[in-house]
Amino acid sequence: MKDRDFGFATRTVHAGSRPDPTTGARALPIYQTTSYVFEDTESAAAYFNLQEYGNTYSRIMNPTVAAFEERVANLEGGVGAVAFASGLAAQSAVLFTLLRPGDHVVTSSALYGGTVTQFKHVLGKLSVKLDFVDPDDMDAWRAAISPDTKLLFAETIGNPGGNILDIEAIAKLAHDHDCPFMVDNTFATPYLCRPLDWGADIVVHSATKFLGGHGTSLGGVVVDRGDFDWSNGRFPVVADPSPAYHGLQFHETFGVYGFLMKLRTETLRDLGAAMSPFNAFLLAQGIETLPLRMRQHVANAQVVAEFLSAQPGVVKVAHPGLATSIYRPLVEKYLPEGTGAVFCFDLPGGRQAGSSFIEALTLFSHLANVGDAKSLVIHPASTTHRQLSDEELARAGIATGTIRLSIGIEDSNDLIWDLQQGLDACESNS
Ligand SMILES: *Cc1c(COP(=O)(O)O)cnc(C)c1O
Repeated sequence: MKDRDFGFATRTVHAGSRPDPTTGARALPIYQTTSYVFEDTESAAAYFNLQEYGNTYSRIMNPTVAAFEERVANLEGGVGAVAFASGLAAQSAVLFTLLRPGDHVVTSSALYGGTVTQFKHVLGKLSVKLDFVDPDDMDAWRAAISPDTKLLFAETIGNPGGNILDIEAIAKLAHDHDCPFMVDNTFATPYLCRPLDWGADIVVHSATKFLGGHGTSLGGVVVDRGDFDWSNGRFPVVADPSPAYHGLQFHETFGVYGFLMKLRTETLRDLGAAMSPFNAFLLAQGIETLPLRMRQHVANAQVVAEFLSAQPGVVKVAHPGLATSIYRPLVEKYLPEGTGAVFCFDLPGGRQAGSSFIEALTLFSHLANVGDAKSLVIHPASTTHRQLSDEELARAGIATGTIRLSIGIEDSNDLIWDLQQGLDACESNS
Protein backbone atom coordinates (compact mmCIF):
# COMPACT_ATOMS: atom_id res chain seq x y z
CA MET A 1 0.00 0.00 0.00
CA LYS A 2 2.00 2.96 -1.21
CA ASP A 3 1.59 6.56 -2.29
CA ARG A 4 -1.67 7.12 -0.53
CA ASP A 5 -2.69 8.32 2.93
CA PHE A 6 -5.56 5.97 3.59
CA GLY A 7 -8.54 7.19 5.60
CA PHE A 8 -9.27 6.15 9.16
CA ALA A 9 -11.99 3.59 8.30
CA THR A 10 -9.79 1.96 5.67
CA ARG A 11 -6.99 1.63 8.22
CA THR A 12 -9.28 0.10 10.87
CA VAL A 13 -9.83 -2.77 8.43
CA HIS A 14 -6.39 -3.09 6.83
CA ALA A 15 -3.67 -1.72 9.12
CA GLY A 16 -1.46 -4.41 10.62
CA SER A 17 -2.71 -7.34 8.58
CA ARG A 18 -2.36 -8.62 5.05
CA PRO A 19 -3.29 -11.96 3.46
CA ASP A 20 -1.25 -14.75 5.05
CA PRO A 21 1.72 -15.35 2.73
CA THR A 22 1.87 -19.12 3.27
CA THR A 23 -1.82 -20.09 3.21
CA GLY A 24 -3.55 -17.15 1.51
CA ALA A 25 -5.94 -16.84 4.48
CA ARG A 26 -7.62 -13.42 4.25
CA ALA A 27 -8.67 -13.17 7.90
CA LEU A 28 -6.01 -12.58 10.55
CA PRO A 29 -4.65 -16.05 11.51
CA ILE A 30 -4.55 -16.96 15.19
CA TYR A 31 -0.96 -18.04 15.80
CA GLN A 32 -1.74 -20.16 18.83
CA THR A 33 1.87 -21.00 19.60
CA THR A 34 4.12 -20.34 22.55
CA SER A 35 7.41 -20.47 20.63
CA TYR A 36 9.10 -20.34 17.23
CA VAL A 37 11.72 -22.55 15.58
CA PHE A 38 15.05 -20.80 14.94
CA GLU A 39 16.73 -21.22 11.54
CA ASP A 40 20.09 -21.85 13.16
CA THR A 41 22.06 -21.06 16.30
CA GLU A 42 23.44 -17.85 14.83
CA SER A 43 20.04 -16.29 14.12
CA ALA A 44 18.78 -17.50 17.51
CA ALA A 45 21.67 -15.62 19.16
CA ALA A 46 20.94 -12.51 17.09
CA TYR A 47 17.31 -12.53 18.27
CA PHE A 48 18.34 -12.87 21.90
CA ASN A 49 20.88 -10.05 21.51
CA LEU A 50 18.17 -7.88 19.90
CA GLN A 51 20.49 -7.50 16.90
CA GLU A 52 17.64 -8.86 14.82
CA TYR A 53 13.94 -8.49 15.53
CA GLY A 54 12.18 -11.83 15.47
CA ASN A 55 9.83 -14.17 17.27
CA THR A 56 11.27 -16.14 20.16
CA TYR A 57 8.52 -16.70 22.72
CA SER A 58 4.90 -15.48 22.87
CA ARG A 59 5.32 -13.79 26.25
CA ILE A 60 7.37 -11.18 24.35
CA MET A 61 5.82 -11.21 20.88
CA ASN A 62 3.39 -13.15 18.71
CA PRO A 63 2.32 -12.53 15.08
CA THR A 64 -1.42 -12.24 15.87
CA VAL A 65 -0.71 -9.88 18.76
CA ALA A 66 1.67 -7.93 16.50
CA ALA A 67 -1.13 -7.35 13.98
CA PHE A 68 -3.32 -5.91 16.75
CA GLU A 69 -0.43 -3.74 17.99
CA GLU A 70 0.32 -2.37 14.53
CA ARG A 71 -3.37 -1.60 13.93
CA VAL A 72 -3.72 0.41 17.15
CA ALA A 73 -0.37 2.20 16.63
CA ASN A 74 -1.45 3.19 13.13
CA LEU A 75 -4.85 4.52 14.25
CA GLU A 76 -3.38 6.51 17.17
CA GLY A 77 -0.54 7.90 15.03
CA GLY A 78 2.28 6.35 17.09
CA VAL A 79 5.56 4.75 16.00
CA GLY A 80 4.51 1.44 17.53
CA ALA A 81 2.61 -0.27 20.31
CA VAL A 82 2.94 -3.06 22.85
CA ALA A 83 -0.10 -5.12 23.86
CA PHE A 84 -0.81 -6.48 27.34
CA ALA A 85 -3.27 -8.85 29.00
CA SER A 86 -5.48 -5.97 30.24
CA GLY A 87 -5.67 -2.20 30.44
CA LEU A 88 -4.32 -2.16 33.97
CA ALA A 89 -1.44 -4.42 32.94
CA ALA A 90 -0.57 -1.94 30.16
CA GLN A 91 -0.58 1.00 32.59
CA SER A 92 1.44 -0.78 35.24
CA ALA A 93 4.04 -1.77 32.63
CA VAL A 94 4.61 1.90 31.80
CA LEU A 95 4.91 2.74 35.50
CA PHE A 96 7.35 -0.12 36.12
CA THR A 97 9.43 0.92 33.09
CA LEU A 98 9.76 4.60 33.97
CA LEU A 99 9.59 4.98 37.73
CA ARG A 100 11.99 4.38 40.60
CA PRO A 101 11.54 4.89 44.36
CA GLY A 102 11.47 8.61 45.14
CA ASP A 103 10.03 9.56 41.74
CA HIS A 104 6.79 11.52 41.58
CA VAL A 105 3.66 11.30 39.40
CA VAL A 106 1.02 13.99 38.89
CA THR A 107 -2.32 12.57 37.88
CA SER A 108 -5.85 13.77 37.28
CA SER A 109 -8.24 12.84 40.08
CA ALA A 110 -11.05 12.07 37.59
CA LEU A 111 -10.07 8.51 36.81
CA TYR A 112 -11.35 4.98 36.38
CA GLY A 113 -11.63 3.52 39.90
CA GLY A 114 -9.23 0.63 39.22
CA THR A 115 -6.57 3.11 38.15
CA VAL A 116 -6.93 5.11 41.38
CA THR A 117 -6.41 1.95 43.40
CA GLN A 118 -3.45 0.88 41.28
CA PHE A 119 -1.78 4.26 41.59
CA LYS A 120 -2.40 4.74 45.31
CA HIS A 121 -1.50 1.29 46.55
CA VAL A 122 1.02 -0.16 44.09
CA LEU A 123 2.94 3.07 43.59
CA GLY A 124 2.73 3.81 47.31
CA LYS A 125 4.26 0.44 48.13
CA LEU A 126 7.13 1.17 45.73
CA SER A 127 7.78 4.57 47.37
CA VAL A 128 6.67 6.54 44.31
CA LYS A 129 5.04 9.82 45.35
CA LEU A 130 1.70 10.79 43.88
CA ASP A 131 -0.43 13.93 43.58
CA PHE A 132 -4.05 13.89 42.39
CA VAL A 133 -5.20 17.17 40.83
CA ASP A 134 -8.47 18.51 39.43
CA PRO A 135 -7.92 17.91 35.68
CA ASP A 136 -9.67 21.21 34.78
CA ASP A 137 -7.33 23.30 36.93
CA MET A 138 -4.12 24.20 35.06
CA ASP A 139 -2.73 26.02 38.12
CA ALA A 140 -3.14 22.82 40.14
CA TRP A 141 -1.21 20.81 37.54
CA ARG A 142 1.55 23.43 37.53
CA ALA A 143 1.74 23.66 41.32
CA ALA A 144 1.95 19.89 41.76
CA ILE A 145 5.03 19.42 39.55
CA SER A 146 8.28 18.97 41.48
CA PRO A 147 11.89 18.23 40.48
CA ASP A 148 11.13 14.50 41.02
CA THR A 149 8.09 14.45 38.70
CA LYS A 150 8.59 11.83 35.99
CA LEU A 151 5.09 11.42 34.56
CA LEU A 152 1.82 13.33 34.08
CA PHE A 153 -1.31 11.23 33.57
CA ALA A 154 -5.01 11.79 32.77
CA GLU A 155 -7.97 10.41 30.82
CA THR A 156 -9.26 12.09 27.63
CA ILE A 157 -12.81 11.93 29.03
CA GLY A 158 -12.78 11.68 32.83
CA ASN A 159 -14.98 9.74 35.20
CA PRO A 160 -17.67 10.41 36.52
CA GLY A 161 -18.05 14.11 35.61
CA GLY A 162 -17.27 13.79 31.89
CA ASN A 163 -14.32 16.21 32.18
CA ILE A 164 -12.71 16.93 28.82
CA LEU A 165 -8.95 17.17 29.06
CA ASP A 166 -7.04 20.16 27.67
CA ILE A 167 -4.45 17.80 26.17
CA GLU A 168 -2.37 20.41 24.37
CA ALA A 169 -1.98 22.63 27.44
CA ILE A 170 -1.02 19.78 29.78
CA ALA A 171 1.40 18.31 27.21
CA LYS A 172 3.12 21.69 26.97
CA LEU A 173 3.38 21.94 30.75
CA ALA A 174 4.86 18.43 30.90
CA HIS A 175 7.43 19.22 28.21
CA ASP A 176 8.40 22.49 29.92
CA HIS A 177 9.48 20.21 32.79
CA ASP A 178 11.17 17.56 30.56
CA CYS A 179 8.48 15.12 31.57
CA PRO A 180 6.33 12.77 29.44
CA PHE A 181 2.51 13.01 29.39
CA MET A 182 0.49 9.79 29.26
CA VAL A 183 -3.20 9.78 28.33
CA ASP A 184 -5.75 7.00 28.84
CA ASN A 185 -7.80 7.22 25.64
CA THR A 186 -10.16 4.33 26.43
CA PHE A 187 -13.42 6.33 26.49
CA ALA A 188 -12.68 8.36 23.34
CA THR A 189 -10.88 5.77 21.15
CA PRO A 190 -8.71 7.06 18.28
CA TYR A 191 -11.87 7.47 16.22
CA LEU A 192 -12.97 10.42 18.38
CA CYS A 193 -9.61 11.80 19.56
CA ARG A 194 -5.91 11.15 18.97
CA PRO A 195 -4.01 12.55 21.97
CA LEU A 196 -0.60 12.02 20.31
CA ASP A 197 -1.61 14.58 17.65
CA TRP A 198 -2.08 17.12 20.47
CA GLY A 199 1.31 16.54 22.08
CA ALA A 200 0.76 13.59 24.43
CA ASP A 201 3.76 11.22 24.46
CA ILE A 202 2.15 7.93 25.39
CA VAL A 203 -1.41 6.65 24.96
CA VAL A 204 -2.81 3.69 26.91
CA HIS A 205 -6.03 1.80 26.31
CA SER A 206 -8.19 -0.70 27.97
CA ALA A 207 -8.89 -2.52 24.67
CA THR A 208 -11.46 -4.46 26.73
CA LYS A 209 -13.87 -1.58 26.08
CA PHE A 210 -14.68 0.16 22.77
CA LEU A 211 -11.72 -1.15 20.74
CA GLY A 212 -12.89 -4.75 21.15
CA GLY A 213 -16.41 -3.45 21.43
CA HIS A 214 -18.33 -6.61 22.33
CA GLY A 215 -17.44 -7.33 25.95
CA THR A 216 -15.65 -10.58 25.06
CA SER A 217 -11.96 -10.11 25.80
CA LEU A 218 -9.63 -8.31 28.17
CA GLY A 219 -6.72 -6.47 26.63
CA GLY A 220 -4.55 -3.39 26.97
CA VAL A 221 -2.13 -1.52 24.75
CA VAL A 222 0.53 1.19 25.06
CA VAL A 223 1.24 3.44 22.05
CA ASP A 224 4.31 5.72 21.88
CA ARG A 225 4.69 8.84 19.74
CA GLY A 226 8.42 8.11 19.71
CA ASP A 227 9.94 11.56 20.02
CA PHE A 228 10.28 12.11 23.76
CA ASP A 229 13.94 12.74 24.63
CA TRP A 230 14.67 9.94 27.09
CA SER A 231 18.34 11.04 27.04
CA ASN A 232 17.55 14.42 28.67
CA GLY A 233 19.30 13.31 31.86
CA ARG A 234 16.12 12.62 33.82
CA PHE A 235 15.45 9.07 32.58
CA PRO A 236 18.53 6.93 33.21
CA VAL A 237 16.05 4.01 33.40
CA VAL A 238 15.64 4.24 29.61
CA ALA A 239 18.90 5.89 28.56
CA ASP A 240 21.62 4.26 30.69
CA PRO A 241 23.13 0.80 30.14
CA SER A 242 20.56 -1.74 31.32
CA PRO A 243 21.70 -4.38 33.80
CA ALA A 244 18.60 -6.44 32.86
CA TYR A 245 19.76 -6.57 29.21
CA HIS A 246 23.54 -7.01 29.29
CA GLY A 247 24.25 -3.28 29.37
CA LEU A 248 22.10 -2.35 26.38
CA GLN A 249 21.33 1.39 26.05
CA PHE A 250 17.77 1.32 24.75
CA HIS A 251 17.33 4.95 23.70
CA GLU A 252 20.71 5.28 22.02
CA THR A 253 20.39 1.89 20.29
CA PHE A 254 16.78 1.96 19.13
CA GLY A 255 16.05 5.72 18.85
CA VAL A 256 12.32 6.36 18.44
CA TYR A 257 11.64 2.71 19.35
CA GLY A 258 13.80 2.84 22.51
CA PHE A 259 10.98 3.16 25.03
CA LEU A 260 8.80 0.52 23.36
CA MET A 261 11.73 -1.92 23.05
CA LYS A 262 12.44 -1.49 26.74
CA LEU A 263 8.73 -1.91 27.54
CA ARG A 264 8.54 -5.13 25.51
CA THR A 265 11.85 -6.88 25.95
CA GLU A 266 12.32 -6.03 29.62
CA THR A 267 9.05 -5.06 31.33
CA LEU A 268 6.69 -7.36 29.41
CA ARG A 269 9.31 -10.12 29.46
CA ASP A 270 9.71 -9.78 33.24
CA LEU A 271 6.13 -8.98 34.40
CA GLY A 272 4.69 -11.51 31.97
CA ALA A 273 1.23 -9.97 31.42
CA ALA A 274 1.11 -10.90 27.71
CA MET A 275 -2.02 -10.69 25.56
CA SER A 276 -3.24 -14.06 24.27
CA PRO A 277 -3.30 -14.56 20.47
CA PHE A 278 -7.01 -15.40 20.62
CA ASN A 279 -7.82 -12.13 22.40
CA ALA A 280 -5.66 -10.25 19.90
CA PHE A 281 -7.72 -11.80 17.08
CA LEU A 282 -11.03 -10.76 18.67
CA LEU A 283 -9.80 -7.26 19.52
CA ALA A 284 -8.32 -6.70 16.03
CA GLN A 285 -11.61 -7.84 14.52
CA GLY A 286 -13.53 -5.52 16.84
CA ILE A 287 -11.49 -2.56 15.58
CA GLU A 288 -12.64 -3.25 12.01
CA THR A 289 -16.09 -1.87 12.94
CA LEU A 290 -14.85 0.87 15.32
CA PRO A 291 -15.99 3.85 13.18
CA LEU A 292 -19.43 2.32 12.53
CA ARG A 293 -19.95 1.45 16.18
CA MET A 294 -18.63 4.74 17.56
CA ARG A 295 -20.95 6.75 15.34
CA GLN A 296 -23.94 4.80 16.66
CA HIS A 297 -22.68 4.86 20.29
CA VAL A 298 -22.23 8.64 20.11
CA ALA A 299 -25.58 9.33 18.40
CA ASN A 300 -27.49 7.11 20.86
CA ALA A 301 -25.73 8.62 23.88
CA GLN A 302 -26.63 12.12 22.70
CA VAL A 303 -30.33 11.20 22.29
CA VAL A 304 -30.40 9.50 25.70
CA ALA A 305 -28.61 12.41 27.44
CA GLU A 306 -31.04 14.91 25.95
CA PHE A 307 -34.00 12.74 26.99
CA LEU A 308 -32.69 12.44 30.56
CA SER A 309 -31.95 16.13 30.93
CA ALA A 310 -35.58 16.90 30.03
CA GLN A 311 -36.95 14.66 32.82
CA PRO A 312 -38.20 16.29 36.04
CA GLY A 313 -37.03 13.19 37.99
CA VAL A 314 -33.37 13.68 36.97
CA VAL A 315 -31.19 16.32 38.65
CA LYS A 316 -27.94 16.33 36.71
CA VAL A 317 -26.73 14.82 33.43
CA ALA A 318 -22.92 14.92 33.13
CA HIS A 319 -22.71 14.43 29.37
CA PRO A 320 -20.15 16.79 27.81
CA GLY A 321 -21.99 16.68 24.48
CA LEU A 322 -24.96 18.63 25.88
CA ALA A 323 -25.28 22.25 24.72
CA THR A 324 -25.20 23.38 28.37
CA SER A 325 -21.88 21.63 29.15
CA ILE A 326 -19.07 23.81 30.50
CA TYR A 327 -16.72 21.73 28.32
CA ARG A 328 -18.15 22.98 24.98
CA PRO A 329 -14.97 24.81 23.84
CA LEU A 330 -12.79 21.78 24.66
CA VAL A 331 -15.29 19.44 22.99
CA GLU A 332 -15.17 21.51 19.81
CA LYS A 333 -11.37 21.41 19.82
CA TYR A 334 -10.64 17.81 20.82
CA LEU A 335 -13.82 15.79 20.23
CA PRO A 336 -15.72 17.33 17.31
CA GLU A 337 -17.17 13.93 16.32
CA GLY A 338 -18.64 13.34 19.77
CA THR A 339 -17.77 12.73 23.40
CA GLY A 340 -18.27 8.98 23.60
CA ALA A 341 -21.04 6.98 25.17
CA VAL A 342 -20.27 6.67 28.89
CA PHE A 343 -21.78 9.24 31.24
CA CYS A 344 -23.47 9.67 34.62
CA PHE A 345 -26.65 11.27 35.82
CA ASP A 346 -28.14 11.75 39.28
CA LEU A 347 -31.45 10.65 40.73
CA PRO A 348 -32.58 12.88 43.61
CA GLY A 349 -33.81 9.93 45.71
CA GLY A 350 -30.37 8.62 46.76
CA ARG A 351 -29.51 4.93 47.22
CA GLN A 352 -33.14 3.76 47.25
CA ALA A 353 -33.89 5.51 43.94
CA GLY A 354 -30.70 4.08 42.41
CA SER A 355 -31.74 0.53 43.30
CA SER A 356 -35.35 0.97 42.16
CA PHE A 357 -34.18 2.42 38.85
CA ILE A 358 -31.73 -0.39 38.09
CA GLU A 359 -34.16 -3.15 39.16
CA ALA A 360 -36.80 -1.87 36.72
CA LEU A 361 -34.58 -1.91 33.61
CA THR A 362 -34.90 -4.86 31.26
CA LEU A 363 -32.80 -4.01 28.17
CA PHE A 364 -29.79 -2.43 29.94
CA SER A 365 -27.47 -4.99 31.57
CA HIS A 366 -26.53 -4.32 35.18
CA LEU A 367 -22.79 -4.95 35.30
CA ALA A 368 -19.34 -3.44 35.86
CA ASN A 369 -18.05 -2.75 32.37
CA VAL A 370 -18.31 -0.11 29.65
CA GLY A 371 -17.85 0.05 25.89
CA ASP A 372 -19.95 -2.97 24.91
CA ALA A 373 -22.27 -2.99 21.87
CA LYS A 374 -24.97 -3.70 24.47
CA SER A 375 -26.16 -0.92 26.78
CA LEU A 376 -24.91 -1.20 30.35
CA VAL A 377 -25.84 0.41 33.65
CA ILE A 378 -24.40 0.54 37.14
CA HIS A 379 -25.21 2.29 40.43
CA PRO A 380 -21.75 3.11 41.83
CA ALA A 381 -22.91 3.76 45.43
CA SER A 382 -24.20 0.18 45.80
CA THR A 383 -21.49 -1.60 43.75
CA THR A 384 -18.10 -0.28 42.60
CA HIS A 385 -17.94 2.38 45.34
CA ARG A 386 -19.87 0.47 48.01
CA GLN A 387 -17.00 0.70 50.52
CA LEU A 388 -17.07 4.51 50.57
CA SER A 389 -18.98 6.68 53.05
CA ASP A 390 -21.35 9.32 51.64
CA GLU A 391 -18.64 11.89 52.33
CA GLU A 392 -15.97 9.92 50.46
CA LEU A 393 -18.42 9.42 47.59
CA ALA A 394 -18.97 13.17 47.37
CA ARG A 395 -15.22 13.74 47.23
CA ALA A 396 -15.04 11.32 44.28
CA GLY A 397 -17.79 13.34 42.55
CA ILE A 398 -20.37 10.59 43.03
CA ALA A 399 -23.76 11.15 44.69
CA THR A 400 -25.72 8.35 46.36
CA GLY A 401 -28.20 8.56 43.46
CA THR A 402 -25.60 8.67 40.67
CA ILE A 403 -26.20 6.21 37.81
CA ARG A 404 -23.56 5.44 35.17
CA LEU A 405 -24.64 4.46 31.68
CA SER A 406 -22.63 2.98 28.83
CA ILE A 407 -24.84 3.43 25.80
CA GLY A 408 -24.78 0.63 23.23
CA ILE A 409 -25.67 0.46 19.56
CA GLU A 410 -29.32 -0.63 19.90
CA ASP A 411 -32.27 1.44 18.60
CA SER A 412 -32.28 4.58 20.72
CA ASN A 413 -36.08 4.61 21.16
CA ASP A 414 -35.82 1.17 22.81
CA LEU A 415 -33.20 2.54 25.20
CA ILE A 416 -35.43 5.47 26.10
CA TRP A 417 -38.38 3.11 26.64
CA ASP A 418 -36.25 1.12 29.10
CA LEU A 419 -34.96 4.20 30.96
CA GLN A 420 -38.56 5.44 31.26
CA GLN A 421 -39.39 2.17 33.05
CA GLY A 422 -36.62 2.96 35.52
CA LEU A 423 -37.79 6.53 36.09
CA ASP A 424 -41.38 5.35 36.60
CA ALA A 425 -40.17 2.88 39.24
CA CYS A 426 -38.37 5.66 41.16
CA GLU A 427 -41.54 7.74 41.03
CA SER A 428 -43.78 4.98 42.38
CA ASN A 429 -41.26 4.03 45.12
CA SER A 430 -40.72 7.55 46.41
C1 LIG B 1 -11.57 -0.54 32.18
C2 LIG B 1 -10.66 0.61 32.22
C3 LIG B 1 -9.31 0.46 32.59
C4 LIG B 1 -8.74 -0.87 33.02
O1 LIG B 1 -8.75 -1.77 31.96
P1 LIG B 1 -8.85 -3.38 32.16
O2 LIG B 1 -8.80 -3.87 30.75
O3 LIG B 1 -10.15 -3.66 32.86
O4 LIG B 1 -7.66 -3.77 32.98
C5 LIG B 1 -8.51 1.58 32.58
N1 LIG B 1 -8.98 2.79 32.22
C6 LIG B 1 -10.28 2.97 31.85
C7 LIG B 1 -10.73 4.33 31.45
C8 LIG B 1 -11.15 1.90 31.84
O5 LIG B 1 -12.44 2.09 31.48
